[in-house]
Amino acid sequence: MAIDLTLSPDQLALQEAARGFADTVLSKVAETIASFHKPEERFEQIKPFYQEMVNAGFLKALIPEAYGGTEFTSVNFAVAAEELSRVDINTPTTLLGTGLGLQPIIRFGTEEQKQEFLPRFCGDQPLLAAFAFTEVAGGANFDTPDVKAGVQTFAVLDGDEWVINGKKHYTTNGSGWHGDGSELITVVARTDSSAPPQESLAVFIVPGNSPGITVDSYIDTIGHRATISPRIHFDNVRIPARNIIGSPGDGMAIVARAFNWTASAIGAACVGRMRAAFDYAYDFALTDKRSGPVPVIEYQNVGYMLVDIKMRIEASRYLTWKGCQLFDDTNGADEEIGHMVKIYASETSVQVVYDAMRLVGVDAYTDKTPIAGIMEDVLCFPVYDGGNMGVRRRQLHNLMKREDYDPMFSASGVTA
Ligand SMILES: Cc1cc2nc3c(=O)[nH]c(=O)nc-3n(C[C@H](O)[C@H](O)[C@H](O)COP(=O)(O)OP(=O)(O)OC[C@H]3O[C@@H](n4cnc5c(N)ncnc54)[C@H](O)[C@@H]3O)c2cc1C
Repeated sequence: MAIDLTLSPDQLALQEAARGFADTVLSKVAETIASFHKPEERFEQIKPFYQEMVNAGFLKALIPEAYGGTEFTSVNFAVAAEELSRVDINTPTTLLGTGLGLQPIIRFGTEEQKQEFLPRFCGDQPLLAAFAFTEVAGGANFDTPDVKAGVQTFAVLDGDEWVINGKKHYTTNGSGWHGDGSELITVVARTDSSAPPQESLAVFIVPGNSPGITVDSYIDTIGHRATISPRIHFDNVRIPARNIIGSPGDGMAIVARAFNWTASAIGAACVGRMRAAFDYAYDFALTDKRSGPVPVIEYQNVGYMLVDIKMRIEASRYLTWKGCQLFDDTNGADEEIGHMVKIYASETSVQVVYDAMRLVGVDAYTDKTPIAGIMEDVLCFPVYDGGNMGVRRRQLHNLMKREDYDPMFSASGVTA
């Protein structure tokens, strides 16, 4: 296949539709949540916006057609996510959290599990799913072979039920809209406290309203203000034995695949947020003289900074599309570019928004412009979804230490 980054007519239509939806619907999120002080209150405020996303078909776009959905390719998801995130990060992140929660079932579930849990997400209800990976003591070392460290949530088989105990936090969507539980949570747990995760890590499908699940508290975040980050406790939560995805040990691959899917979507979200900063800075530069004789774009430093900002946005977008294409071509088995998309786009977004801030000047540090809010949002990108230091770079480091590492593999167009 020739290299071609041209969007198809269908993709252009999707891009335009997502842009229109964002401008007409999601543009009202910021003012809607502004006066609410508690994270759970802000989250409740975005429920109508999420409902609008469901109505517009974005929820069932997560689900394969065989189970009633209209599954977007990873590339198409990125095209839409960029447009949505340009205007609001909260509602798309809530959708992303649902997609992350469902990825283990979509990629590794049995036919019975897919039939049981996926079609319900294709209706008109604003259903939420969640992925409970991060432990309250940290997420980076989930794969350490030291059996006394790493994941401390355990699932023990008792007759025909798994009994789950543990504490998770930052479980996006895990509380449900009103603290009453999400539709389901895929929970990362070990089945044996004496076996390393390579033999014991697994993922379990847990109905969100199961007895024993409690929302301990909500974490307030400086950006992503209406994305919900609850701390969830699992106390003797019982689920049917059939709700394990794969076998003990398969959790390693399932976690990797789930975070590979989010990587490129987050790359697109970074591009969307960067565009919001660029749009503001560009308009400012064209129109504002700051009491001088000419619009500030006439000054070389302003013009050059705009060029540098735009260039990094373009580079991030095309790397993201490459990551998406590799994800689609390898059914998520790519081990390199996804991590690189996540690291590069997220860290670039912080630098780009900082440059937009320097360009606009002191007002960018206030609530007179949207730049400070965008900065609060992008600061999240490097540290969430598998932090760039403890998870993403570490995975790439491990890949490069492997004897079979081929530096040209990702550029070879090979499909797995
Ligand atoms: C808005 C938001 C939404 C989120 N949504 C979810 C979600 O839906 N589900 C979920 O499970 N989690 C979620 N998270 C958590 C997120 O995925 C975390 O990035 C991840 O769990 C790992 O955190 P961490 O990298 O900071 O690891 P930590 O374990 O907290 O490590 C902290 C730091 O220690 C250092 N470190 C520790 N161990 C190592 C090591 N072995 N090698 C190198 N450096 C190391 C690194 O500098 C690392 O950055 C969310 C977080 C936020 C803010």
